[in-house]
Amino acid sequence: MLPYGRQSIVEEDVRAVVEVLRGDWLTTGPAVDRFEADLGARVGGHGAVAVTSGTGALHVAYAAAGLRPGDEVVVAPLTFVATAAAAVLHGARVVFADVSEDTGNLDPDAAKAALTSRTRVVAGVDYAGHPIDAEPLRRIADDAGALLLEDAAHSIGSIWHGRPVGDLADLTTLSFFPTKNLTTAEGGAVVSPDAGLVRAARRFRNHGLVRERDEQRYPDEGGWHQEVHAFGLNYRLPDVLCALGSSQLHRLDAFKRRRAEIHARYDAALVDVAEVRTPACREGADPAWHLYPLRVLDGRRRALYDHLRANGIGVQVNYVPAYWHPVFEDMGYRRGQCPVAERYYQQQLSLPLFPDLSDADVDRVAGLVREFFGHGD
Ligand SMILES: *Cc1c(COP(=O)(O)O)cnc(C)c1O
Repeated sequence: MLPYGRQSIVEEDVRAVVEVLRGDWLTTGPAVDRFEADLGARVGGHGAVAVTSGTGALHVAYAAAGLRPGDEVVVAPLTFVATAAAAVLHGARVVFADVSEDTGNLDPDAAKAALTSRTRVVAGVDYAGHPIDAEPLRRIADDAGALLLEDAAHSIGSIWHGRPVGDLADLTTLSFFPTKNLTTAEGGAVVSPDAGLVRAARRFRNHGLVRERDEQRYPDEGGWHQEVHAFGLNYRLPDVLCALGSSQLHRLDAFKRRRAEIHARYDAALVDVAEVRTPACREGADPAWHLYPLRVLDGRRRALYDHLRANGIGVQVNYVPAYWHPVFEDMGYRRGQCPVAERYYQQQLSLPLFPDLSDADVDRVAGLVREFFGHGD
């Protein structure tokens, strides 16, 4: 089965990992500092905190935002469940706001309508790699006294009007799962231009431990002393995986170029098929595409999914609206609340997209789609 996404690993990556395995530090050593510096430089020169997954990054980012029971978070529903789940696990209430019809990203007007006096975070998602509508969302969040969070699990390397992802929001979260634009096997990061938020993220990642003597309540306890002022967890990404991350970062530009080539090749091959719609790209967006979200307009998405799977093509659907998960249904969330996201989901099909995908494979996938709709070659 041709997968819809997969990692690209070369000898240089293997060497970087093996070198760390032979050294003194498996975790919390110099490779972590190096990766965080390399990563920070790629995302606007901001502070980066490496963590164990994109889900962990969301949990840490919401903690850094000071999310507490009773707070509300406005979340785009066309996303992996973690964007919402990580907020619920802090005791917050999630309010889903609908997406824009073209990009599938959080619609600023819908986000604005979802604000209340309890809103603490507005959380958008760079769906498929296309950056959020950052300026209006920033204004809306600022006016509400809330923070803007960008779930950039899909979009490291993307640029919006000249600014890299990582530079657009108060808190940006990344995922380094193998199908994403860059991998550390499992991994993620929190990025912020705000030193206080970066510090809070670092603390939560490491049990909330306070090691800075001038900040301790009992600084004279002894040289070994560290103390907890607010609870945290262990989300530390080990040196072994950070070494892979630094190595992969060298190829991020090449990954982005190849992903764009494949995107354009699918576009060209499918542009005349009236039953489908190819992905939108807004002016000012320069995406590092994670997904190729095709939309099937004639109601036959499921049949096309089954047809491609039967032909060995590992297509995927991204995503069932987050509030359709029974856990949200059981909390009282009802279908129909975000009709644009629901229609998007019902049409959506992700075609295979990863740097090592060959042109011949792209042509084979596109050919199967054309054939399905009766467009012979
Ligand atoms: C992958 C993903 C996550 C979670 O990242 P993991 O590293 O798999 O935990 C969160 N949000 C979105 C939009 C994702 O695609």
